[in-house]
Amino acid sequence: MTRKATSPETAPYHDGTTDYIPMRKKYDPKKPHISEQPMTWGNWHKHINWLNCTFILFIPFLGCIGAYYTPLRLYTGIFAVVYYVNAGLGITAGYHRCWAHSSYKATLPLKIYLAAAGAGAGQGSIRWWSRGHRSHHRYTDTEKDPYSVQKGFWYSHIGWMVIKQNPKRIGRTDVTDLDADPVVVWQHTNYHKSALFMCLVFPTLVCGLGWGDWLGGFIYGGILRVFFIQQATFCVNSLAHWIGEQPFDDRNSPRDHVITAFVTLGEGYHNFHHEFPSDYRNAIQWWQYDPTKWSIYLWKKLGLAYDLKQFRQNEIEKGRIQQLQKKLDQKRATLDWGTPLDELPVMDWDDFMAEAKNGKALTAIGGVIHDITTFIKEHPGGKAFISSAVGKDATAVFNGGVYNHSNAAHNLLSTMRVAVLRGGCEVEIWKRTLPDGKTPMLTDSTGQRIVRSGEQVTRTAQPVPLIGAA
Ligand SMILES: [Zn+2]
Ligand SMILES: [Zn+2]
Repeated sequence: MTRKATSPETAPYHDGTTDYIPMRKKYDPKKPHISEQPMTWGNWHKHINWLNCTFILFIPFLGCIGAYYTPLRLYTGIFAVVYYVNAGLGITAGYHRCWAHSSYKATLPLKIYLAAAGAGAGQGSIRWWSRGHRSHHRYTDTEKDPYSVQKGFWYSHIGWMVIKQNPKRIGRTDVTDLDADPVVVWQHTNYHKSALFMCLVFPTLVCGLGWGDWLGGFIYGGILRVFFIQQATFCVNSLAHWIGEQPFDDRNSPRDHVITAFVTLGEGYHNFHHEFPSDYRNAIQWWQYDPTKWSIYLWKKLGLAYDLKQFRQNEIEKGRIQQLQKKLDQKRATLDWGTPLDELPVMDWDDFMAEAKNGKALTAIGGVIHDITTFIKEHPGGKAFISSAVGKDATAVFNGGVYNHSNAAHNLLSTMRVAVLRGGCEVEIWKRTLPDGKTPMLTDSTGQRIVRSGEQVTRTAQPVPLIGAA
């Protein structure tokens, strides 16, 4: 551990807003930042983060040109893929799940492996990466989110690194735990050397000393491998906030999609991840693709990892059910359930009789008056039966006296209701007795009354046989 990281005067740095050992030109928070000025033809070059552009755009571009003139040898290809997976795990299992989220604990040998492999992915130090990622989780989709997808797909993918960002804008996070981790501190203070070695020198040496392919090792095992791994990781910030399902919460942008999972060694179940960030898993089903989770589990079995954190299935299912309920409520709100009972006028029996005599086809069922004028000719049971219900209380007839109507019939009937009978049903009693005018009816999150199957107000608990009917 370095002297500076543990000394008390470094305390203000623990929110991650400043580096305890500046890796770039010292940033003066008092001077106006370039991002505060609009981009013009005169100053656009000052807005560009040239260092990042070099590492994520220019060098990969030169690598592509180099690849055109350099044949890919089989061993080099196999090595590049194997090293790709290792460096990828350095990011997903190391930077992300171990350090940014502390979703499990790694022993020292595993930490050294993850820090070294992660350095070989060319994505900054553990400390810098985790700090930004913690801000992303804490301030998802807001101005303080360093790679907010609200600013567009390409901004969240690469734009936030290509264009200079105002350090004051990024939300504060606590990185005390990272500053207390000697592996993190060592990797951060020696980042440039480590990254250069792990990204380019190491693959060149392996392929050169191994089978004499120095240039292939440099281009395929080094430059292009880093390029692919960078783009894959960037997809977690862009694609995982862009395509897929939101089974746990749809108030923010994170989404679950198998394509993102395939691209990112299992980081694609991002809706789950934002809900349960300290869970060492991203995919919770055994059949979902999450090789990062499998690796952490394997390391646990080998004694290299411990304290794997996992949310209780009970908590996970609660979130899933609430989101399902929300979707159900939205769907329910689009359907016609008839005028809500508490919005219907109250009608006296005598008025009901009088209107029915004057030619309106009104019938009372379950204390609710329905206008069935237009429905009589469409009645599946024929005109005669339904006509005989006009001007009468047809509760018993409707509920089994003549025919025990289906659930769908009760639903359809509710769309024809026009009034509540005085003294006729509970609703009318509620309307008269509740002092605040509120009804004790069960409603969903959109304020719609929930009418469950078989629980319509027009349905009586037991079918009522007509006296004399056999
Ligand atoms: Zn995210
Ligand atoms: Zn995360």
